[in-house]
Amino acid sequence: EKALVWLRRDLRTFDHAALSAALQVADQVYLCFIFDTNILNPLLDKGLTTDRRVDFIWQSIGQIHAELIAKNPKSGLIVLHGNPQVLIPALAKELAVDAVLTNHDYEPSSIARDALVANQLKDLGIDFTSYKDQVIFERKEVLTGAGGVFSVFTPFKNAWLKKLTPQDIASQDCFTSEQQSQQLAPLPKTILGKATEIPTLEAMGFTPSNIQELIPIGMHGASQLLSDFEDRIHQYQATRDFPAIKGPSYLSTHLRFGTVSIRALVRIAHHLMLAGSAGASTWLSELIWRDFYFMILANHPRLASGVSFKPDYDKITWEQGLLQEKFFKAWTLGKTGYPLVDAAMRQLNTSGYMHNRLRMVTACFLIKDLGVDWRLGEAYFADQLNDYDFAANNGGWQWASSSGCDAQPYFRIFNPITQSQKFDKEGKFIRKYCPELAGLSNQSIHAPWLAGEIELQAAKLELGKDYPFPIIKHDEARKTTLLRYSVVKAEA
Ligand code: FAD
Repeated sequence: EKALVWLRRDLRTFDHAALSAALQVADQVYLCFIFDTNILNPLLDKGLTTDRRVDFIWQSIGQIHAELIAKNPKSGLIVLHGNPQVLIPALAKELAVDAVLTNHDYEPSSIARDALVANQLKDLGIDFTSYKDQVIFERKEVLTGAGGVFSVFTPFKNAWLKKLTPQDIASQDCFTSEQQSQQLAPLPKTILGKATEIPTLEAMGFTPSNIQELIPIGMHGASQLLSDFEDRIHQYQATRDFPAIKGPSYLSTHLRFGTVSIRALVRIAHHLMLAGSAGASTWLSELIWRDFYFMILANHPRLASGVSFKPDYDKITWEQGLLQEKFFKAWTLGKTGYPLVDAAMRQLNTSGYMHNRLRMVTACFLIKDLGVDWRLGEAYFADQLNDYDFAANNGGWQWASSSGCDAQPYFRIFNPITQSQKFDKEGKFIRKYCPELAGLSNQSIHAPWLAGEIELQAAKLELGKDYPFPIIKHDEARKTTLLRYSVVKAEA
């Protein structure tokens, strides 16, 4: 029996559902990854030729390839560039495999792609099987007592925790622990390669990015970040809301590309939670939010077409024309005059990461201070975030716009100044990303326009020149927003 394992957002060789299944049934296993032109070409069309995500993938698969080769020179990852709907059936035919195995994807466009590939393989007499791998519980595995799909997080989380058994988070082993730990031990003879080169980034139209300076990459990078976080996990609850503190795990990009196993993370968090760690318990909740949004997307695929989860919210009229353009541009550039918002946007632009608290603050600011349609912000994050994932991003934006399944109420409008005073009290984060404000006192840094002339002079800051005046008055924007949302008030 011969099998081909198609890697997508599961770029690792351990605790991997499809690979584990392939190694159980087949004597000869090939591994492949396709740089999908259906995904990459739109990036190139937008001029995004330096994309940290593409680089992250490229370096991560390079690690897999090197590891396979180091264990067995005849092994290796087969990497192609093109349309998987054509390339997967062609490769499967060329290698004369009996089956293609992969892991489930929950985005409607990926589901459609997989259905097309499955059909073509069927015509060739080749099986196509897909496995649950990137979540603990998927689709309709966790349901309400009445058998319905959850739309509120807390009862979903409670049902999720109740359903969890050790089997759900057991490692889906691919190799014995001895084979896994001995870097140079030959892999089981079953993994085979093919004499092809990995296409360079340049050959695919991209240039290398600075991702390597920002985050450790690949399976090895993920385990480095994880062991670092394991020392801090107990403090997670106390530290996670403060962007100047190293509180969160920074594992999101690894979860996005599967360079870490969600089962391994839940095993650690759940074990520590049972041992009484409040930090681990809060962190586990975040991992369950991740499952929640995948579940929501799987059950409400219409979300992928840009609609609000609560249809009534599509009645809202957003800012239009020149004002909208001006507001949106200032927001993207980190030039709104609200220091915490600006620092956060600059963190995103320069690193591809934004702290969770700040994703909430900046999203709320765009929607409820500037009155800009949340879909524009969602699309901007989609282009910029290293960890961009449709389900979590759409969930986050619809939470902020109050149109989502378990969203903040429409009348809850973050005050960007008090958020700043609360979560970046000493302005450390602001000073890092808005150095022009560095000379201001801890009190004025949250709202520079309230600083007196003497302080501004001492800080060598000329408002309107070195840093903008606030683009909008928060209190007035608040009133406009409540009016804007009045079309949905009755429902909320
Ligand atoms: P940690 O705090 O260490 O959390 C651990 C993991 O839990 C994260 O890596 C992530 O996989 C998951 N997680 C945490 N919070 C959430 C959440 N609210 N929803 C779903 N999963 C969560 N997360 C993404 O992975 N991709 C996105 O595109 C994305 N877009 C967002 C957009 C908005 C407007 C908002 C408010 C949130 C968004 N999030 C997104 C969720 C969250 O902000 C990030 O997952 C988190 O900041 C990543 O940092 P971390 O890995 O250090 O997180």
